[in-house]
Amino acid sequence: MGAAMIVLVDSSLAEDSEERRLTLESLTNLPGIEVRVHTIRGARQTLTEIYLIGDTARLSVEEISALPGVERVVRVSEEYRILGRHKDDSRAAGFTYNGVSFTEDNLNVFAGLCAVDTKESVEEMFRALRQHGQVCSRMGAYKPRSSPYSFQGHGKACLPWVFELAGKYGIRVIAMEITHESHVDEVAESLERTGHPTGVMLQIGTRNIQNFELLKVVGRQREFPILVKRGFGISLSESLNAAEYLASEGKTEIVFCLRGVKTNLGDPHRNLVDFSHVPVVKRLTRMPVCVDPSHSVGSRERAPDRMLDLMHVTAQGVVAGADMVLVDFHPAPAKALVDGPQALLLKELPWFLEDVALARECYEKRRALVGRHAAAS
Ligand code: PEP
Ligand code: MN
Repeated sequence: MGAAMIVLVDSSLAEDSEERRLTLESLTNLPGIEVRVHTIRGARQTLTEIYLIGDTARLSVEEISALPGVERVVRVSEEYRILGRHKDDSRAAGFTYNGVSFTEDNLNVFAGLCAVDTKESVEEMFRALRQHGQVCSRMGAYKPRSSPYSFQGHGKACLPWVFELAGKYGIRVIAMEITHESHVDEVAESLERTGHPTGVMLQIGTRNIQNFELLKVVGRQREFPILVKRGFGISLSESLNAAEYLASEGKTEIVFCLRGVKTNLGDPHRNLVDFSHVPVVKRLTRMPVCVDPSHSVGSRERAPDRMLDLMHVTAQGVVAGADMVLVDFHPAPAKALVDGPQALLLKELPWFLEDVALARECYEKRRALVGRHAAAS
């Protein structure tokens, strides 16, 4: 691929309008330029972006802007062509999935089990979430484990009852890691068979972020949004490029998740917490950003102020503008089959949510503050 250009189509035009047809025809006729059409379905409108790939340096922005129905033309830099936030690029980030909106202006909490174990704990988790007005959760069915002898997750066998229970308690989106392309079909088939009681956000875990063939397959499917976790041993830019793999296959409904990086400099935390990268990811790309305090901190230690490190770092991520929080809870952590030591307790859920709301309020006040000061300077 050479350089690229993005043509933003006037969103008020119908998908089959004459203007769009003419514009697409002219673009398709440009010699040496590959044309890819991306359709982004949001809650309020459907956006069409046409990507021109190849020798775009010789194309004139003015001429393309003059084609019928073209709203704007953005020249794209080398990095993160599709997901990147380019020069003079104020396009909004985000998407809506199963009634839940993921943007850079709201916050969704995904509290749930690291790994699905029993029907009882899944149901208790969902019941607590509904009681506290939550419509999202996390549930691991396919677990990538360091040891082949550790519990690998219930896999597809648990999907039907997890989805049915989610539906029963009004859970609209479950973040669920997949570790193999066959899992995408298993999730889709199970949702189909149970009548779509809930939705799934496919999670690409930290260990798979450079599994490029998996990324391509997941990027080609249209049904599920994706949560991409930062690689724990690679640079931020390498992780963002992994997300770009999904986008290059047409999938732009992506949330990027910071989950800490592996180094003993983070001790005694499980990983070195990297939530200072929340604003960095927002500056470099148009992806909403998630933080995962559980896999960053990895324990239930607390500071002398009696707050868990887990809650401290969650607040740090949210104050920095995180748009989503992925966090491990368990009704009986001692019985959890995976990551019990880092799980929050169900009785801590209202406390956690209140703490998150407080941090969010602080972030919103900080935004108002920058509005006042930026306006004055
Ligand atoms: C998880 O969220 O369950 C998980 C395994 O996370 P990570 O890929 O960040 O280790
Ligand atoms: Mn885990």
